[in-house]
Amino acid sequence: MDASPGGRIAGSCAVIVAATIIHIPIQKARSHALLLTERGDTARWLGDLAAAEKDLQKVIERTSDLIDPVPVRLNALNNLALVYHNAHRFAEAELLHREELSLSRKLYGDDHEEIFVSSINLAMVLNSLERASEARELLDDIAKRSERLLGAKHPTTLLALSEYAHSSILLSRAQEAIPILERTLASESDVRGERHYYTMRTAFLLFRALLLCGRRETARKVFEHCLRQLFSLPDTTLDQTTRELRTALSTMVEFREPSLGEQPKAGRNNPCPCGSGKKFKRCCGRS
Ligand SMILES: [Zn+2]
Repeated sequence: MDASPGGRIAGSCAVIVAATIIHIPIQKARSHALLLTERGDTARWLGDLAAAEKDLQKVIERTSDLIDPVPVRLNALNNLALVYHNAHRFAEAELLHREELSLSRKLYGDDHEEIFVSSINLAMVLNSLERASEARELLDDIAKRSERLLGAKHPTTLLALSEYAHSSILLSRAQEAIPILERTLASESDVRGERHYYTMRTAFLLFRALLLCGRRETARKVFEHCLRQLFSLPDTTLDQTTRELRTALSTMVEFREPSLGEQPKAGRNNPCPCGSGKKFKRCCGRS
């Protein structure tokens, strides 16, 4: 047996050389994957969902070429799931979010912000798929974990709470949603600012919950405040979801009239401002 030190040095030199030779194409594959992910995400932001899907699919198909594929794959899975969500392809979005969750659980364990964010995204998809009880149960757990780990006023905790209240509205439990939404809205205004998409979305949900409970005057105040914030933003600063929220809310302007509380007609067939991708009358507009 030749176990001389020289042999070992020669051996490790060979490993270094081999690693360097392999390293260059792998580095390239990695930068290419990151570039495609970036481009896909930009396309999604601009609303070109077909282009986004193409790029992100490619990254997911090729992650096995990478040395450390998990973070790249996770990022691409998450972005593609959001593309499917925006394109209202909820069943496909659910599958990707589930794969993303099981991958990141292996990487981070159960109590990590990544897990919370992926779970909230999954719950949003479940709400769109009319599986609000599943979503609500998941969000209850996530909101508690997130509050423990990140704090009560952390944006992720607030998002979990707001979506939990959304599930409650969809399950005809608007009464329970109101205090949660009021607290969340106050914290989001502080933490994210009044004109942030999620703050405005929470305001819309509070408006709906109040209206469903017959509290018309308070509902109108919330709605008008929400509209004022939304229309004070210049068009060019809005991403696709905020533009959609603005369009959805502007079809509901008749809520501003004293007839508030009666069923709005013009907006009933338009997309729901909650971003579920469903018609208002089949989503938060169900009474
Ligand atoms: Zn809705």
